[in-house]
Formats: sequence, C-alpha cells, structure tokens
Amino acid sequence: MNPTDTPRPSLLRIRVTAKTEGIIRKGHPWVYSDSIAYLTREGDIGELAAIYDKNDKFLALGLFDPLSPIRFRVLHTGKPVRADRDFWINRLRAAKATRSGLFDERTNAHRWISGENDGVPGLVLDRYDSVLVLKLYSAVWLPRLTEFLEYLQAEFAPTAIVLRLSRNIQDIALSRWGVAEGCIAGATENLVVFRENGILMEAEVIKGQKTGFYLDQRDNRSRVEQLAKGRDVLNAFSFSGGFSLYAARGGARSITDLDISKHALDSAARNYALNPWAAATPHETIQADAFEWLANGPKRSFDLIVCDPPSMAKRETDRAGAIRAYHSLADACLRRLRPGGILVAASCSAHVNDGEFFGAVMDAAAKNGPVTELWSADHAPDHPATFPEAKYLKCVALRLSA
Ligand code: SAH
Repeated sequence: MNPTDTPRPSLLRIRVTAKTEGIIRKGHPWVYSDSIAYLTREGDIGELAAIYDKNDKFLALGLFDPLSPIRFRVLHTGKPVRADRDFWINRLRAAKATRSGLFDERTNAHRWISGENDGVPGLVLDRYDSVLVLKLYSAVWLPRLTEFLEYLQAEFAPTAIVLRLSRNIQDIALSRWGVAEGCIAGATENLVVFRENGILMEAEVIKGQKTGFYLDQRDNRSRVEQLAKGRDVLNAFSFSGGFSLYAARGGARSITDLDISKHALDSAARNYALNPWAAATPHETIQADAFEWLANGPKRSFDLIVCDPPSMAKRETDRAGAIRAYHSLADACLRRLRPGGILVAASCSAHVNDGEFFGAVMDAAAKNGPVTELWSADHAPDHPATFPEAKYLKCVALRLSA
C-alpha cells in the first residue's frame, strides 16, 4: 500500500453544488472547478480527495487537480474505500475482463484501458503486440507514475512501456517530476509491427499520432472490407492505409490513398510491403490537402470512398464550423461516387454529436440523389464510452442508388 494513497484525517474534503451532487450520483466522472462549493484546503496535483454530500455523507473518492478546469476526477462512489494497491490492481483486472474474448490470435493490438470509461480517469493504455503505450491526459497521474508502472508490469508483463503525455501536461511533468515522453521501461523501437484481424501494420509508438495508430477504427475497417469487392476505393485522410489494406483484402479493384502527410503515406507503403498479398491490388498514393482535392481536384470518380478526417472540433466554439465542414466533405465525396457507390464517413470530433454528424452527412446525401444507409457505428467494445463527453467516434455508410 502506498502511504500517500491512504485516507488520513487530513484527506482533502470537498463540497459541491447540489446539481453536481446529482450528476456524480448518476455516474458522471468529472467535477469542474466552478461546481466546487467548499474545500477544506487547497489540494495538490493528483492528491486523493473525497466529496461529501450536503448531509455530510461520503459521496465520491477521486483525484484532485488544481491546474485543470476538471478539478476532481471521480474514482469511486458508494461506500468509502482506500485507493491502495489492491484497488488499482482490481481496476486493471476489471479492464482486462471487459476485453476478455474480444480478440483472437489474429489481433494483438487493442485498448486495454480507456480512461474514465474503465474507472482510470485521464489514462489510456494501448497494447501493440508486447509493447504498452501509456498515454496520460491528466497531471493527476504524474505523482503516482512509478507506482502505476509497477502495477502495469505485474498485470501485463510487457516487453516495454512507452509514455505519451498530452501537450498541456508536458511542461509540468518535466519541471516537477523530471518525467518526459519516451520508452520508460524495457526497450522498443519507435515502429512496432502488430496484427489486426490478421493484417500486419506498424504503430509509431514513440512519435506517432495518439498512441501510434488509430485502433478505434478497427471494426469500421472490417466493415469496409465487407463492402470493397470489385470497387475502386478512395481512402481520404488515409493515414497509414489501414482502411485500404482491409479493402484490398476484401477484393477491391484498386486503392487510392489520399493524405496531406508524406510521413503517413510512407507508413502506408511500408504497411503494404508487410502484407505481400496486397500487391495484387493496384495501389496509388496522392499527397494533397484532401479538402481541396475532393472539392476541386482532378475529375476522378470511385465506387467506395472512406472519409475519416482528423478532429475538426477540438473546442466547443469549433462545433458549428465543424458541422459545416463535415457537410461539404460529404458533399464533395458523394459527387465523386459513381452510381451505386458507397460513402463511409467518420467523425472523431467529440464536440460534434452523432445526431449533428449524421444529420450533416444525410443532408449532403439528400442533395446527391436517393441513398440507402447501410450501417452506422460508434465505439468499439475495447473503446467503451460511458458518458456523453467520451463519445467522440461516429461512422456511417451510405449507398447511392444505382
Ligand atoms: N483513417 C485513418 C486515420 C486518419 S487520421 C485510420 O483508420 O488509420 C487523419 C489523417 O488525416 C492523418 O493521417 C493526417 O495526416 C491527415 N490529414 C490531416 N489534415 C489533412 C488534410 N487537410 N488533407 C489530407 N489529409 C489530412
């Protein structure tokens, strides 16, 4: 047991507004600074704190963060508990149990811990073969990093652990705890090859986007494989060609990867080379701004377009502009589809909800002729989303009439 994690008489106690009490009771994991009514004293980064309700009854144990507008992240509600070693190990085991049976030996990369959604707020843990990538979105983990690494070693026995930090906590991590991004246990190269549904791909675990790859689109990639037979496929915002390899395996006639980043397209080329069977499908890459290319580029048409742009609404104020951008992207894609063609459109903007995104795509579809919705999807089971702000991923497939 770590002595700093043991509730003591001096445990920081918090009172919140009546409304926030209700929100916590319903299971929401965040308490914003402006809903804190009273604190026994100022707390430190990552300090354990307890919320008591208006009758002075224990309501929640959580992690305090004086630097973030999300001042308190809920760990537990119900009866008082100690956040000791057993508590954390049980959290890790519960996250493992949630994913048990989801993957067979053809897949050795997935999310082990999805932050708040697995009761470990602000912390994401992804697996790429035997390498773990730990991404911290909150400074509350910095004071307990060494302790947590020991838990990860005990429960997952990885060959390496790579630490990634969200940009807003990098300075404090270095200045106060001497912690920086990189491989912090064992050893690994930047590029780690893994299997996803039997397809080999690389993750750039030390320097890449997110934790090195977009694991969250795995199930949508499989859905695209089912749609690709005999089609000329455009993968817009292709990144390392994940959707393209699935489309190739699904029998696509040709594949075109479109991305602004040479780095991403080079990775796509390496991923093709890792899967020699893919060489049978003609493959072309275009390095260009996809917004511009789709709207004004060469007159080319396709039978299947996957459009998975980066997040367009990182802040609430970006929301309206993002919805308009999704509409014009969908419109530009639909115009490039041949009769009977399929659009698979995705959004990873947390501030645009599913109704807004699907509405924008459907509205664009209505202008381009009758369409049939084939399917829509949100979060894969290894990326659970248990509260509204966690629901960022949306994907829809439409077919134009022939
Ligand atoms: N669909 C991918 C993930 C896409 S991530 C997968 O399943 O793996 C978003 C990609 O969009 C990144 O590769 C980034 O380089 C690219 N990108 C960002 N802005 C772009 C733009 N304006 N035009 C084309 N590509 C862009």
